[in-house]
Amino acid sequence: MKKPISDYHIHTPLCNHASGEPAEYCEQAIKMGLEEIGFSDHAPLVAYEDPNVTMQHDQLPDYYKMMEMVKNEFNDRLRIKIGIEADFIPGYEARTKKILDDYPYDFVIGSVHFIDDWAFDNPDIVQSWSDKDVDQVYINYYEMLRQSAATGLFNIMGHVDLVKKFKHRPGRDLSDEIEKTAKVFKDSGVAVEINTAGLRKPAQEMYPAARDLAIYCVAGVPLTFGSDAHTPDEVGKDFDKAIELARSVGYTEYALFKQREIERVVKID
Ligand code: ZN
Ligand code: FE
Ligand code: FE
Ligand code: ZN
Repeated sequence: MKKPISDYHIHTPLCNHASGEPAEYCEQAIKMGLEEIGFSDHAPLVAYEDPNVTMQHDQLPDYYKMMEMVKNEFNDRLRIKIGIEADFIPGYEARTKKILDDYPYDFVIGSVHFIDDWAFDNPDIVQSWSDKDVDQVYINYYEMLRQSAATGLFNIMGHVDLVKKFKHRPGRDLSDEIEKTAKVFKDSGVAVEINTAGLRKPAQEMYPAARDLAIYCVAGVPLTFGSDAHTPDEVGKDFDKAIELARSVGYTEYALFKQREIERVVKID
């Protein structure tokens, strides 16, 4: 089975927790046999600035310039799309929209990294889970995902079961939550990604789990692939497993984006 030709979840050092120059990520992509990559570094959190989590607001022009430069540099060797990964912070939709509309991105990944103000995926505060009702965390997380998709701000929803990162598992079957979420994704016209970074985390599995991905597939939600690379060597990582996961739940194609729309689909053979 041919591996995915595209990796749409790649960071840059501007977020201060990734390393390596964009050109190094591109070289690795070529080495991995990819035809296309999309950078998607962390957009500023609109409610406040945290320079160790995302780029700063005044770095957005640098980000876009850096992307255009690397795109030119690799012109005939690799197709490069310019994306960005952003959070939906309730109450800040207009400011988020403004940031995302400032540049002609090819796609925007919508990610939920916060429930209220709680950075549930931050390894530095993993003990903060200890007094939480895990089932309720999952339910709140899926509610946030649905709200995010429904804003219309995003094209691809990122790592759609990130709550499992540290291996906290719900005590009951939450398929009803996933089904509701899949319906909202479909109605909102967003795609879902297979994100291989989960394999490198305590969860030890891709985002989302196969059972969830099957539900998104049945609902007709388009698919993309991402490594969530924060170092060059992670580009395209575990994409053999990712394509196998996609195929095993019934996906027959995945999407490439341009100017915030599906440009074309690639068949999974
Ligand atoms: Zn990151
Ligand atoms: Fe993320
Ligand atoms: Fe990311
Ligand atoms: Zn991410």
